[in-house]
Amino acid sequence: MVNNAPNGAPSAVTPAFQQWPSATHFDIPAMLAAGWRPSAFTEFVVKIASRCNLDCDYCYMYHAADQSWRSQPKLMSLETVSALGRRIAEHAVTHSLTRVGVSLHGGEPLLAGPGYIQEFADVMRAQLADHCEMSLVCQSNGTLVTAEMARVLQRNRIRVGISLDGDREANDRHRLYRDGRSSFDAVMRGIDTLRRLDEDLFSGVLATIDLHNDPVATYRQIVDLDVEHCDLLFPHANWTTPPPTADSRSATPYADWLIPIFDLWYERPRQPLKIRIFRDIMNLLLGGTGGFEMVGHGPVTLLSIETDGSIELVDTLKTSYEGATATSLTLTGASLDEALAHPGVVARQIGLDALAEPCLNCRFRDVCGGGMYTHRYRAGSGFKNPSVYCADLYALIAHIEARLRTDLIAANGETL
Ligand code: SF4
Repeated sequence: MVNNAPNGAPSAVTPAFQQWPSATHFDIPAMLAAGWRPSAFTEFVVKIASRCNLDCDYCYMYHAADQSWRSQPKLMSLETVSALGRRIAEHAVTHSLTRVGVSLHGGEPLLAGPGYIQEFADVMRAQLADHCEMSLVCQSNGTLVTAEMARVLQRNRIRVGISLDGDREANDRHRLYRDGRSSFDAVMRGIDTLRRLDEDLFSGVLATIDLHNDPVATYRQIVDLDVEHCDLLFPHANWTTPPPTADSRSATPYADWLIPIFDLWYERPRQPLKIRIFRDIMNLLLGGTGGFEMVGHGPVTLLSIETDGSIELVDTLKTSYEGATATSLTLTGASLDEALAHPGVVARQIGLDALAEPCLNCRFRDVCGGGMYTHRYRAGSGFKNPSVYCADLYALIAHIEARLRTDLIAANGETL
């Protein structure tokens, strides 16, 4: 349970390569002999642009421990895009994949411009055409969606998720231009431009929680956008760099913030908005599997590709320490199967074996699954810890469980 979370200070700081996980922690031949199999990568976060036109103060690319963006080219070359297509095709054939997801990411991917986005899609489709289907999506700040860009996105069936933290006040706490100007109007114009061309192009909102924001106002702003998907994200933090608490005295400020939203969302008849963290928790509580990165302990099959073609671990790890995402593998020198053997990938595909003792003994082990991997980091021990949001996750899951139980009993006398 919550108070099982390790609160002690780290012992002597251990070099990153000795922290969990490192190569010394896994005997992969023995694991394979015992029946474990890696899960093929199916989702690729592709950093086509390494710079951004905004300067959001919580951005894990530019304001976190890892500053490797400084040495990256501004745009991914088309040669690298082609190498990426070849590697994904090779991986799809090896693992009989029929479909992969590719997310255009950055920095701000739309800085690449409409011509580049078209070329990217053409090159990738040419490489993958004979091997597997590809769904292309884009994660953007929304400020650079011109009419021409929207046409290119539509032509290539690239749906766009937009980062927006709520209403103008919420958004402007963090999501500003370098000169301090608000990005809110530009984001709303971008959403409008997408929508005017094609209702379906704007796929979802990604909102980072700030405890200063009113949760109900945030939720209403997102509902008013009439969008299909929403991710409500904990700010990236860990035991060494703890989350902002906004001077809250609560032991569970993030659960306190999310629960009113859950209640409104859950009680809304014919709910069209899919809030991933709530849906995943409900699904796992009801015995389902999966869960994206926030909850659950299913295998993570996501891989990040840097602008220069480096094969990397998921980019949110940049919040832990300099070099946390590096694998030393590149598209030109290594197959994606080689990345499957990297300790940082293996650690995310071994389920319960990646969990710390308190999580293994936790009532919500199979729902929470230790929380987001990035949030488990502690300098000195690495990632085999409960989430720094342990208490919040426990309280949120307990609340959702209680609501489901009440309704199931009321509906037909069943219990969880
Ligand atoms: S499974 Fe989640 S709630 Fe349970 S101890 Fe681990 S981090 Fe905390």
